[in-house]
Amino acid sequence: MQSNPGTRKSQTILVVDDEPMTRSILRALLEEAGARVVEARSGAEALTQAETARPDLILLDVMMPVLDGFETCRKLRLLPGGDAVPIMMMTGSNDVATVSRAYEAGATDFEVKTVSPVVLWQRIRYLLRAKGAFDELRESENRLATAERIARAGSWEWHPATGIHRWSRGLFRLFELDPGQAQPSHDLFLAGFHEDERGPLGEALAEAFTSHESYAGEHRILRPDGGSLVCRLHADVVGEAGSEDRHLTGLLQDVSDLRTAQDQLRALAFYDQCTGLPNRNLLRQQVERMIDEARRSGQLVAILFMDLDNFKRVNDTLGHSAGDELLATVGTRLKEAVRTNDLCGWNDGSSGSVLARHGGDEFIVCLHGIRQPEDASRVANRILKALTKPIPVAGRELVMTASIGISLFPQDGTSPEEILKHADAAMYDAKNSGRNTFRFFDEQLSARAFNRLAMEATLRNAVVDQQFTLDYQPLVDATTGRIIGAESLIRWNHPELGLIAPTDFIPLAEETGMILDVGAWVLRESCLQAAAWRAKGHLLEISVNVSGRQFWHPEIVELVGRTLAETGLEPSALAIEITEGVLVQSTADALRTLSRLKDLGIRIALDDFGTGHSSLQYLRRFPVDVLKLDQVFVREVEWSDGDAALTAAIAAMARSMGIEPLAEGIERVAQRDRLLAQGYRLMQGYYFGQPMPLGEFLKAAVNGVGATPTLSAVPTTGLELRPPKSTAR
Ligand code: C2E
Ligand code: MG
Ligand code: MG
Repeated sequence: MQSNPGTRKSQTILVVDDEPMTRSILRALLEEAGARVVEARSGAEALTQAETARPDLILLDVMMPVLDGFETCRKLRLLPGGDAVPIMMMTGSNDVATVSRAYEAGATDFEVKTVSPVVLWQRIRYLLRAKGAFDELRESENRLATAERIARAGSWEWHPATGIHRWSRGLFRLFELDPGQAQPSHDLFLAGFHEDERGPLGEALAEAFTSHESYAGEHRILRPDGGSLVCRLHADVVGEAGSEDRHLTGLLQDVSDLRTAQDQLRALAFYDQCTGLPNRNLLRQQVERMIDEARRSGQLVAILFMDLDNFKRVNDTLGHSAGDELLATVGTRLKEAVRTNDLCGWNDGSSGSVLARHGGDEFIVCLHGIRQPEDASRVANRILKALTKPIPVAGRELVMTASIGISLFPQDGTSPEEILKHADAAMYDAKNSGRNTFRFFDEQLSARAFNRLAMEATLRNAVVDQQFTLDYQPLVDATTGRIIGAESLIRWNHPELGLIAPTDFIPLAEETGMILDVGAWVLRESCLQAAAWRAKGHLLEISVNVSGRQFWHPEIVELVGRTLAETGLEPSALAIEITEGVLVQSTADALRTLSRLKDLGIRIALDDFGTGHSSLQYLRRFPVDVLKLDQVFVREVEWSDGDAALTAAIAAMARSMGIEPLAEGIERVAQRDRLLAQGYRLMQGYYFGQPMPLGEFLKAAVNGVGATPTLSAVPTTGLELRPPKSTAR
């Protein structure tokens, strides 16, 4: 990059003189010295040549007709780049007036025409060298400017002693000021920053100067359009303490893009994209912070763990984008519900809330600075209420509910993990309590219901490790007391937790999809056993529970067909139990699947009848063979005439549609007798036999259950029914 102007080859010199003789002499002299010479005979010609030949130096005669040397010099200076060319004026005399006119016109130097060629050449060399140095400086300035432009930076210098400020072009650009108009000063420098930062920045720079320490910080720069840039400011002190030229020199760099990228990264790492709420990572940090604060202040922290009820169904039926839309709206509703700080009567600023999406359809609210558990229940109620208004999703209006579990610091746990886990457990309690409600964490309950996440993991293991077994509960012909078959009921024998009830893990297995594997195993195992019994001559039937998710699996019919074929069970010996809730989802599809199942030759039982929609309409429409009356009706049937009327009506209607009614949950002889009188031939319940392991069941089936009906209870007219007096409950 370095170059030496004095030795540079072929520098172009423009000789301007109206006398041909002078031009020739100068040309000879200059060419001998190695320069390239361009001539002009007049001022006008000089202007053209200067533009085309771009000379490194101009020798300009003063005395010329039309445009004299002074006027020509002035005009040369106005040409683009004309201020950088050295112009040496050749005068006839060196009187003061002429010399000062020459300088005024913009001449770099002057020389009398009578000077010796050697002296003239020395002067020319000197001017050329100076011009070279000047060019270099300009080039380096340009390089700096380019570098500054690329780096979006600007440099500055401040001399507090004299008040002088020097700014690079880049700095003007950052401040969006015109270098031709703005006069750099310390006030103007500070004025470029956001008003909140001017004072502190001024102090910081003054402090840096006096303490001789460098300063670095991030500041906002105001833009004329009202926006702002984030800039990194760096300042260093130059010069000895007390010395006059001691000053601050610094760099200001626009780091807005970097910040934006960092913010985006942060958003990705800590915020949920769908709802814009903090995600579980950020939540965890905040919960930790709140617990620390609460530890010091002695106040409470409450975690509200919320899970939408039946969200999966929305996702499955309307698609994931509808699900996302729903979650976003729920997020907004929740924000509104928990935002108002006054909802717990707080106004001291020490309290507040954090709302986060925990994943899936789970949201978490963390309340801190509360004084009593009631504050948390008030917020929970508010959330439940916020959801009652229908939510528009994919052109429909959905009514969503949620289940909320609440745990408190310090009483329910001392670490974020613990209280979150306990809030989760409490949420499950809320779900089991019928949903659309909230529950506080309960130690005992948790011991039983343990953590859902752990449960999910263990459930996966259970599938792999075959921790499931089946119990068989007798299905009895109550008119004879003979066991005609069994309902297979799954049991989960956890190596550490012991026996886990199906009602505790079937919903989870449903949600996670594990029910497909589990259900396929139950079906196969049940069919295998039934086939084995029948092979030994015990003509028993088997009734297998099929969950909603299983039923809606596109290959359920194939699965059942294949299982029958592989286990060798006659289709007529198999019944599958489904609940009404499963069928209401999509009548047409349900009907199609049911018909195809029936085509296999198996029977369909409608389980838990009476607990859901209990619509007899469905019965008419669906090809159902057995109706399993739920235990809720059976429980008080001996003394409740209302219940008895209802059970009688159900039996009558079922029979009129060619459906066999079956009464579940028979525990006492009186229940049996009353229902038997109403036409329930098939029964199931502890009275006849609890669900039992395979061996026990076989013994019972062979020996009979020993609970033959008393003769008086058997209707003398066979299975005929008396019409019920009233169906009101
Ligand atoms: P469910 O199909 O209605 O099964 C009957 C439930 O009532 C069984 O509970 C049984 O033990 C209980 N029970 C029977 N007789 C009596 C009685 O006289 N008194 C009382 N109090 N209860 C009685 P379990 O075994 O806990 O099963 C509960 C539910 O879990 C079942 O209700 C069924 O919905 C589900 N389930 C069980 N096994 C499976 C399975 O293999 N697959 C699927 N998808 N669900 C299953
Ligand atoms: Mg069942
Ligand atoms: Mg049932």
